[in-house]
Amino acid sequence: MTRKIGRFDIRRELGRGAQSIVYLAWDPQLEREVAVKTLHFSAAERRDNAALLAEARAVSRLRHPGIVPVFEAGEEAGDVYLVFEYVPGDNLGTHLQQHGPLPAADAARLCIDILTALSTAHAEGIVHRDLKPSNVLIDVDGKPRVMDFGIAQRLDADTAGTTLSGTPGYMAPEYIRSRQVAPSNDVFAAGVMLVEMISGRRVMRERDPQRALQLAATVPVTLPKDAPDVDEALAAIALRAAALDPAARFQSAEDFRVALDAWLNPQEAPSAPAGSGAVDFLLRRMRHRGDFPALSESVAAINRIASSEAENIDTLSNLVLRDFSLTNKLLRLVNSVHYRPASGRISTVSRALVVLGFDTVRNIAITVLLFEHLQNKSHAALLREEFLRACLAGLFARDLAKHMKTRELEQAYICSIFHSLGRLLCQYYFPEESEDIRRVMTQHDYREDVAAQRVLGVSFEDLGIGLARSWGFPQVILESMRKLPAGAVRRPATQEDRLRALSAVANEYCDAVAHLAPAERDKAMKAIAGRFADAVPVELKAVRELMQAAVQEIENFAQIIKINLRQTRIGRNLASFDSEETLIHPHATTETQMPSEAVLEQKSVAEAALAGEKPADPQAVLSSGIQDISNTLVEDFKLNDVLRIILETMYRAMGFKRVLLCVRDARSNEMTGRFGFGPGATELARHLRFSLSAHPDNVFNVATAKGVDILIEDIDETKIAARIPAWYRRNVPSRTFVLFPLMIKGRPVGMIYADKDNAGEIEISEQELALLRTLRNQAVMAIKQAG
Ligand code: ADP
Ligand code: MG
Repeated sequence: MTRKIGRFDIRRELGRGAQSIVYLAWDPQLEREVAVKTLHFSAAERRDNAALLAEARAVSRLRHPGIVPVFEAGEEAGDVYLVFEYVPGDNLGTHLQQHGPLPAADAARLCIDILTALSTAHAEGIVHRDLKPSNVLIDVDGKPRVMDFGIAQRLDADTAGTTLSGTPGYMAPEYIRSRQVAPSNDVFAAGVMLVEMISGRRVMRERDPQRALQLAATVPVTLPKDAPDVDEALAAIALRAAALDPAARFQSAEDFRVALDAWLNPQEAPSAPAGSGAVDFLLRRMRHRGDFPALSESVAAINRIASSEAENIDTLSNLVLRDFSLTNKLLRLVNSVHYRPASGRISTVSRALVVLGFDTVRNIAITVLLFEHLQNKSHAALLREEFLRACLAGLFARDLAKHMKTRELEQAYICSIFHSLGRLLCQYYFPEESEDIRRVMTQHDYREDVAAQRVLGVSFEDLGIGLARSWGFPQVILESMRKLPAGAVRRPATQEDRLRALSAVANEYCDAVAHLAPAERDKAMKAIAGRFADAVPVELKAVRELMQAAVQEIENFAQIIKINLRQTRIGRNLASFDSEETLIHPHATTETQMPSEAVLEQKSVAEAALAGEKPADPQAVLSSGIQDISNTLVEDFKLNDVLRIILETMYRAMGFKRVLLCVRDARSNEMTGRFGFGPGATELARHLRFSLSAHPDNVFNVATAKGVDILIEDIDETKIAARIPAWYRRNVPSRTFVLFPLMIKGRPVGMIYADKDNAGEIEISEQELALLRTLRNQAVMAIKQAG
């Protein structure tokens, strides 16, 4: 076959996209291979020709090694064609399909090169708008070459086009929603691409383009569920670039590139202490380990102090509620003796936040997360021991602080738990080095910290502090992790000193109790009491009592996180401490308090089976939530707290995808979304908004005008479809939802909205409906009372 386009001999097809076919061709004049891009066979269309020429003009303005250059544009029989440099090799899409995920560092480097190319385009005022793996070629050196500026747009051009162009899944949400064209569109697409590079999976799986657009506009990008282990620090960067809200993204391709660069080459801060190179090195080794990133991300998310308290509470409760097992354990812990409030059982995370406060709930969440993380590992037994001891120190320090009437209970708790973080994580991540440390200790009779310094090149202390810093813990906690000098400890002058002394003394006592035989233990405890007589002046007798309380609490804790204390060395040792000195709890009591091993195991299995499922009994969750609300209503409550408990109860009990509260805005007489639970709830709240002044017969206005509860099983059902407002279809991906208007004196003051993804998924029994309505009435009551 010899075919020619212009002077070019067509050799074969290289690929085709939505509008065009690209051929490998030979240029007989310059004697080189080129890529010729032509429109699909269809008859010449002036509009398409113009588009192709626009592409040529855009690309010819750009000169960058990461962008495939255009050589010339020609015309044959009324059809425009473009001639590009030929780049042998696959496009990135094909590459990912064939080889699966890229190694994290390769993905980061590739993305960095793509971003520098984009920055050049942005600096020229050109937005690519169709960035995706199939539009990036990988050349023989493995370098990315961005191409297909087919729909690229000049920023100064009139952008008010109405037809949507691009590829669902890579199109930025703000572009889908309001046709905003800006460099942030490309930042989003690059973020999605990076997620796909490291996960080897498509982010957008929805095939129906309309649904895909709706999802893309409303649901935040997440890591594909079936993705293999990814580097979570890198994933966090990618997800930030692909944030739903452009303001939450990197502000430019350059900022995104800088973040990736910092990930690839962690820099020593100029003021970093000696040995920080080694710390960074160890942290990087950890980072490349399977589940560490996931843990880091969760803990860092909890620590990320948002600008407002309300935001903190939202972040924390959403994070906890996303994880069914974490929610259950947290709720059981907040009701354990140690935290149990006078005001009765707590059944919702939101109420726990009201009663116990943000810090306490956060600390419990961090503890459970850490524990779950450490548990499923080959060295689990050793780690369990270490971690239980650390938790014991935390609980004990909290009690000591309370006893001394300081107000820093939660800080004492978290500081003490993290006091030996370095040692703990070394055991977890570097089991071989840990073995070496032990060997060096016995061979040379070194103290542990000296041995660690020898083997790791840093002390456990520096390692722990480095890690806590990377997890975003505040300075006061980092300070408290510093070792105290030997000898008597001075009376602390600052808060840092106080916490440092507290966590040191708590950890030393706990070491003694956990590891020593009774005779040595008593000696050691006396010595500790002497050393800390000034710094933590608590009588040895009181220390013993507090320690017993902490030991009992750790037993309780162990049950909740499903550890059989009996099978741990520390557990057996603690049991002896518990029994030998307690009058209130003689040996027999310990025996009966702890369910026998067999029972405990059985329960674990049953609970584990539950853990991945829906809540066991929606009615029970609803009723205990109602109880929580009643308890809150008799107190001096904040309206938002009550409403939050109500939403959470509905959310958990019914397994809704999202639950949102809407409130009437008096000025505009509009119903507007406020806050809620579930993925993308905050974003959705911004789009739930409709006027109460008009009375169209859509379901939202009908519900609020008449005060009737409405369940829409399927928004596309023939009789219903016309009554679903357009703003809803545009902004919400769900096909089924339920509305509970909040009416006072026959007028709507608010509304609760709840949804699920697929038609027919919301099923509400009569009893459940009655309880849901009670919750709604409680919301109305709270609003009236607060009114
Ligand atoms: P469309 O605008 O229709 O999406 P593209 O410009 O993306 O067209 O090209 C379609 C496919 O052709 C690409 O995915 C790629 O595989 C191949 N291709 C395009 N340009 C070149 C080139 N310069 N060198 C090699 N292959 C190319
Ligand atoms: Mg293309």
